[in-house]
Amino acid sequence: MHLYQNQELKIYNSLSGEKEVFSPIHEGNVGMYVCGPTVYSNVHLGNCRTFISFDLVFRYLKHLGYKVRYVRNITDVGHIEDDADEGEDKIAKKARLEKLEPMEIVQQYSVDFHQIMELFNTLPPSIEPTATGHIIEQIETIKQILYNGFAYESNGSVYFDVVKFNENNHYGKLSGRNIDDMLANTRELSGQTEKRNPQDFALWKKAEPQHIMRWPSPWGDGFPGWHLECTSMSTKYLGNHFDIHGGGMDLKFPHHECEIAQNEACTGETPVNYWMHANMLTLNGKKMSKSTGNNILPREIFSGNNDKLSKSFSPVVTRFFMLQAHYRSILDFSNDAIIAAEKGFNRLMEAIEVLKEIKPSGSSSLNIAEWRQLCYDAMNDDFNSPILIAQLFEAVRYINLLKDGKETITQNDLELLSNTLNAFIFDVLGLKDEAADDDNNNKLEGVVNMLIGMRNEARANKDFALSDQIRDQLKVLGIELKDSKEGTTFSIQ
Ligand code: AMP
Ligand code: ZN
Repeated sequence: MHLYQNQELKIYNSLSGEKEVFSPIHEGNVGMYVCGPTVYSNVHLGNCRTFISFDLVFRYLKHLGYKVRYVRNITDVGHIEDDADEGEDKIAKKARLEKLEPMEIVQQYSVDFHQIMELFNTLPPSIEPTATGHIIEQIETIKQILYNGFAYESNGSVYFDVVKFNENNHYGKLSGRNIDDMLANTRELSGQTEKRNPQDFALWKKAEPQHIMRWPSPWGDGFPGWHLECTSMSTKYLGNHFDIHGGGMDLKFPHHECEIAQNEACTGETPVNYWMHANMLTLNGKKMSKSTGNNILPREIFSGNNDKLSKSFSPVVTRFFMLQAHYRSILDFSNDAIIAAEKGFNRLMEAIEVLKEIKPSGSSSLNIAEWRQLCYDAMNDDFNSPILIAQLFEAVRYINLLKDGKETITQNDLELLSNTLNAFIFDVLGLKDEAADDDNNNKLEGVVNMLIGMRNEARANKDFALSDQIRDQLKVLGIELKDSKEGTTFSIQ
């Protein structure tokens, strides 16, 4: 028996504009695709919010007992400045400015992204495909769309024919747009474009001679359009029709609208059952963004090295700050708001510690089974983490009364309370008890120092076999000893 069999999860579907009961295509299995970062600079906190929002979704689905295949791509080619069809590739531009290879840029910022995601305690996706690793698949998708008559070649590039597609399909159904309005609202000087219509978008772009990121194709050397990678990679790993597709709200149009059009033009199938869009993190009321510079970097928060901050905040506190808002609400970042989040987080962690010391005593004054279901109800209601957190604080209040001997609890309820709190705080919300981590670090430091002392003794007794053994075995564990005049210190890799 899995939890999902007796919990009814509802997801807000951007396509219908309604909360719908979640029912996966294959019972017990969920396929989820989330648009990943374009790796041409450090991820800012806004980007992180979107990935943390989907980490919550991934964690809760797993908690309910689903087997989830979570695909999140890395965009390493094809994303043009201003999300346009003309202009410089974001990665190629950065490479030019830094005098590096594009793939050096990709590597540098992919590594940074992974480090930040790990610090935020997000679980790695099941598959993390890159656009450059799927050029062949993208060419195949284009061939099929051309064959089906929904694209045309023009001067070595291939464009999606939006008007043709719209004859029997609806381009604009996700973003609530209408092609005639879009065409009426775009002015473009005729004769200056390779496109039949300004709304058409690139599937393949011809590479100019100076363009480094290029691949051979039936239409000459070029590179894929930005929207295409997600169509090719989602269907490759999740099938033509899968359960959930997510991304930030700003990707709804044109990116996701174009993805739907490409999928439908290629396979004739509606690709996604539930479209999920995470809302934006703002700073001073404006969207955090790489291009405008209105952003804050995660490492600036962890170090406190930013004028907007009065102190540093740990990754887990920052994560908690974000989870205190529902993923579909706009959240504004400020020093005061994250200070308040830190206080709340500390209260939660203290209660977890207090709970370990509580002994059962008489009957329970809080109905724990009912309270537990309220926690599930919150998450079942479109992953409502702020309501869940409010429920967790109900438990904190109870725990503090138990501590003061003002309330009582049975043995069974004590176990249920503890298990439920641990499951929601650590597994579902993905928080970490930093005090416990610090405590373990202190213990580790004590043990290594004890071994250093034993090694010194062995050396004094000329038992070099033992002293070397201690050093070598610690090294195998990733703990390196360094001897100097002042004594021996250690570092942990
Ligand atoms: P990008 O690297 O620009 O393609 O963005 C990666 C992800 O971050 C996308 O899903 C965006 O929607 C998301 N994103 C960008 N800016 C913000 C923001 N201010 N708040 C939340 N998510 C954002
Ligand atoms: Zn995408």
